[in-house]
This record gives sequence, C-alpha cells and structure tokens, in this order.
Amino acid sequence: MTTLDDLPLRDELRGLTAYGAPQLDVAVRLNTNENSYPVPDAVVEAIGKALHAELRDLNRYPDRDAVALRTDLAGYLGVEPAQVWAANGSNEIQQQLLQAFGGPGRTALGFGPSYSMHPLLAKGTGTRWVGALRGPDFGLTPQAAVAALAEHRPDVVFLCSPNNPTGTALDPAVVDAVLDAAPGMVVVDEAYAEFARPGTASALAALPGHPRLVVTRTMSKAFGFAGGRLGYLAADPAVVEAVQLVRLPYHLSALTQAAARAALAHRDALLATVEAIKAQRDRIVAELRGRGLTVADSDANFVLFEVGGDQQAAWRRLLDRGVLVRDVGLPGWLRVTAGTPEETDAFLEALS
Ligand code: PMP
Repeated sequence: MTTLDDLPLRDELRGLTAYGAPQLDVAVRLNTNENSYPVPDAVVEAIGKALHAELRDLNRYPDRDAVALRTDLAGYLGVEPAQVWAANGSNEIQQQLLQAFGGPGRTALGFGPSYSMHPLLAKGTGTRWVGALRGPDFGLTPQAAVAALAEHRPDVVFLCSPNNPTGTALDPAVVDAVLDAAPGMVVVDEAYAEFARPGTASALAALPGHPRLVVTRTMSKAFGFAGGRLGYLAADPAVVEAVQLVRLPYHLSALTQAAARAALAHRDALLATVEAIKAQRDRIVAELRGRGLTVADSDANFVLFEVGGDQQAAWRRLLDRGVLVRDVGLPGWLRVTAGTPEETDAFLEALS
C-alpha cells in the first residue's frame, strides 16, 4: 500500500495528520461551536426557492466578484460593499489573506492558546509562524502584544476576539496598540462577534483610517449556517483588491451565493437564537463556577473550563455518557459549546 511517505510531499507537511475535530454520531454534539438550532422552516423555504432559481443557469459560471452578496453583507455590517470580500468560510478568507500578505520568507504571529487553524494556514501557505502567548488568565495586554511585535516584526498578526478556545474578548486598547505598532497586516478574527456580552467592542469601529486592519467574520456560528460555508472580511477596499489577486476564479458557487443571500435576508429569524445561546453560555459558566471549577470568561458560544485532572480521560468519560465536547490540547482544560437548554442539561448531568 502506498503511504504518504512514498509521495514527494512538501517537507513541512511530512508527519502531519489532517486537522479536524472528530465528527462522531452521538446525541449531544458540543464540540465544534456550531449553532445547535436547525434552520427555521420559513428560512428553509426561502433558501430552497433561491437555490431553485439558480438551477437553470448552472451552465454558466457564477458572479466571480459576488457583488450582490457582498452588498448584502456590507448592509449587515454597516460598511461599503467595496470593503467586503466573501469566501467559503472564514478559513478560506484567512488562507487568501496569507496567500496575499504572507508566504515564503514572511512571518505571521498569533497569541496562543488561540484558533489552531491560524498556524496551519500559515504552514499551508509557506508562511513562518511565531506563536506568542497570552497571559495566565488568557488575556492579552497592549504591552505584551507590542513587545511581541517589536521582537518578531511579523508581516501578518492574528488577533482573535472573542478568542477560540478561551472565549476571551480583547480590550479595544489592545487592538489600537497593535494597529499602532504592527509593521504589517492586522487580522482580527471575529467569528464569534455576535455572541459578545454587552459592552464588548468589535474591531469594525477601528476600520476608518486603518488600511492594514482586516476583520474576519463568518455565517457559521451566530447565523447557524456552518454547512453553507460562508465567511467574509471587512477592510479597506485595497485589501479586497489584494485578495482578488490570489482567489480562485468563481470560488463561490452560484448556489452558495444564492443560499447565503436568502439566509441574510432572513437574518432576524436566524439571529433570534443568539440570545438563547448566550443564556446557556452564561448558565454553563455560573453552574461550573458554582461547582468550584475554574472557568474562563466567555464572550462566545462556548466555555473553556478546567477539569482538575487529565482532560483526555474526562473527554472520554463525557463521550461515554453521550456528550461530545472538545479537547483542544490544553492540559487540564476542556471546551464545551453552548447549545439548547436540553443540551446544557445533558452536559451538566454527564459532568456530575
Ligand atoms: N475563526 C475561528 C476563531 C473559529 O473558531 C472558526 C470555526 N471553528 C473559524 C474562524 C472558521 O469558521 P468558518 O470557516 O466556518 O467560517
């Protein structure tokens, strides 16, 4: 049998295994920060109609620049369509950013523990990755961020707010300090922005006057559209021009564009789940703290908690009770997604 070792694979990919959380068929799946609520009937119908309307024209390529979809996304964010770019998930957006601004001979920096795809996307694009660290409370101070920038002079810096896997949001002072000190592009990954607690700021407010700032967002979480694969960015129009140099032509299918537009048109119905999910998030935090566990503050739809021992064994024992959570590789900690009240019940009971 041929193995990977027999193939002329790039050296930096040797020994790696493909990234991805286990997709196991268990009753309670709280491991990938999906939205647990299914798409409501009215939205299912609207997406179905929108897809049907595209079918006869599938002999043609889609709008390469996805202008109508970008216009709708811009309306949602309150920015101009020329400031928005869309792709198959924010993972693809970030890959395009690294293709345009990273690459061989260039460096990207992030502050761990954070989203594990950032270093993997760096690897895939031949970008050197530097992993700086957050503080013991998973926070990041302007001083620590600026010191890391001064030391490594990265071409791209990734900030993640609210941060995966910790849930921690960044103080706007950190983003401001990084914008002042960064020699290159500043990417703020805001995949979980819609779940932020009142008073938590988005980096969108810093876009005016900062042409090297990129805010990435997704419809995978709050919109409950993970299977639709739609991520996007907001930045200066020049950044959009830059990613257009590296995107594949027609990367967003006509079906994806139509489905995403229909979903956006029904955003009130889709985003109606956000408050319910935040309530479960806050309930999990309060309940676990009540049980004496250490829990990170969360502005996202998940909670990172300390199990007080071997997290791999705890993960397995929860799975044995039908509850799938995420072992993010942080010794002693596990991450659980906030879903429906029934899922929270099942998780808390299994944890008992
Ligand atoms: N950023 C962060 C911080 C995430 O947690 C995720 C999803 N796990 C993504 C980006 C990517 O999501 P998508 O590609 O579905 O938009």
